Amino acid sequence: MEKHLFIDGAYRRGRGAEATCIDPATGKVTGTQFYATTEDVDDAVAAARAALPGWSSRTPGERSTAMLAFAAEVERRAVEFAALETEQTGKSIRLASGFDVPGTIDNIYFFAGAARQLGGLAAGEYGTGGTSMVRREAVGVIGSIAPWNYPLQMAAWKILPAIAAGNTIVLKPAENTPGTSLLFAEAAGAAGIPPGVINIVTGRGREIGEYLVSHQDVAMVSFTGSTAVGRHIMACAAQSGKRVHLELGGKAPLVVFDDADVEAAAHGAVAGAIINGGQDCTAATRAYVQRPLFQAFTTRVAELMDAVVVGDPTDPDTDLGSLITHDHRDRVAGFVDRARAAGASVLAGGYAPDGDLAEGAFYRPTLITGVQQDSEVVQDEIFGPVLVALPFDTDDEGIDLANDTVYGLAASAWTRDVSRSMRASAEIQAGCVWINDHIPVVSELPHGGYKASGFGNDMSIYSLEEYTNIKHVSISRDSAAHKEWQDTVFRVR
Ligand code: NAD
Repeated sequence: MEKHLFIDGAYRRGRGAEATCIDPATGKVTGTQFYATTEDVDDAVAAARAALPGWSSRTPGERSTAMLAFAAEVERRAVEFAALETEQTGKSIRLASGFDVPGTIDNIYFFAGAARQLGGLAAGEYGTGGTSMVRREAVGVIGSIAPWNYPLQMAAWKILPAIAAGNTIVLKPAENTPGTSLLFAEAAGAAGIPPGVINIVTGRGREIGEYLVSHQDVAMVSFTGSTAVGRHIMACAAQSGKRVHLELGGKAPLVVFDDADVEAAAHGAVAGAIINGGQDCTAATRAYVQRPLFQAFTTRVAELMDAVVVGDPTDPDTDLGSLITHDHRDRVAGFVDRARAAGASVLAGGYAPDGDLAEGAFYRPTLITGVQQDSEVVQDEIFGPVLVALPFDTDDEGIDLANDTVYGLAASAWTRDVSRSMRASAEIQAGCVWINDHIPVVSELPHGGYKASGFGNDMSIYSLEEYTNIKHVSISRDSAAHKEWQDTVFRVR
């Protein structure tokens, strides 16, 4: 069976361009795929539209039961999901099987439960003569676009709240990582989620993505990806007045105050900076360290980074696999090389390993110091395992520097002082502020951005609400033909 698209409950071959699938850890071709055409997108949207009345009119309990079976099916096939995620992205199997897949399963269980919690805030008499209630209803067919960094989790974060709320969906994964999104839709079907509720189309963003988000039968667009593309998608969606939900880029700061546990901060910085090869929108990318701790922090981070095992992502002993493509690896290396040429110190990494790893898109964990706040390595999203560290003196300065990029997705502050932690959590402009940790996400809590990092939330009950329309229903209790309030408009004469 050719597994290129998943439409109306079945796989099919795309009618568009042929593309090769490459394992980024070896550079070897692992297969070919055929992208969707705009006609395939029409078919997927039509299937989603046809499935909408049946799915949205199920009771929350019925949707929840189907999603619980879906969770169990993904759990049963967890090893298969993890292996495919590693093959298509180059991420370590330890991360795929310990984070991506269990996180996704937990998300399905969460949204299966959340499906039963959709309620309105009002039910009662608020005006004279009427009883009001608030209904939450599905928006319709959702068009979603996902990135390549966490293909499975990003697909899950889009699909699950949408279907839990009674919508149906057409999702376009990134062109180079469709595998686990297709498998996810297949597992949903095997578990009894009806055909047409989840559809997957593949292809390039400019052609297939843009066509999907502009489609007249798509009621809402949800997007995770770069800020530039997100803004373009917003403009496309504006042509037809669609609702948009944007999860965009990040450049997360890590602020280490002078009372922090420097060992804990160093471990948090390394884990936060190299997770998923730093190809994580919440990755720790800028460490601001109060001057008395700067030397100890950077020395320890460099030691820990130097000990990271980079290599074959399928080996459970590997810490860091490859980056997503050779081009992307070269882009990351370009940032580091330009910083070095401008006089920065590279205290760890800063190169692509050779020898056995020369054929893959690998890059060593890298620590850079001696750069200015306005330099590109501090301001731009590198999306690789690269941390820059800068010293600061006063608390005000640390927080100001943390806020000094266009992004506002996530941040962490490291301190043992409760007042400092409260101040940092209030004043850092980001959708998530961790205190004495960096990265953990849980299904119950929202993930979303401030500033150029977008708006709207993934995960949590907040994301479920975003995939609903709110309707006020008012029932008159006054049986008189002419109601008293109508006197303000016209009197009975
Ligand atoms: P990208 O913006 O290049 O691509 C994302 C998706 O958009 C892909 O599926 C792509 O095919 C599609 N696309 C590209 N151009 C398009 C167009 N003109 N119209 C419609 N679709 C189009 O991002 P990427 O390189 O795949 O992913 C990395 C980016 O994603 C980073 O900026 C990262 O910070 C961001 N990201 C954000 C979050 C979050 O939750 N905020 C999570 C993960 C990744």
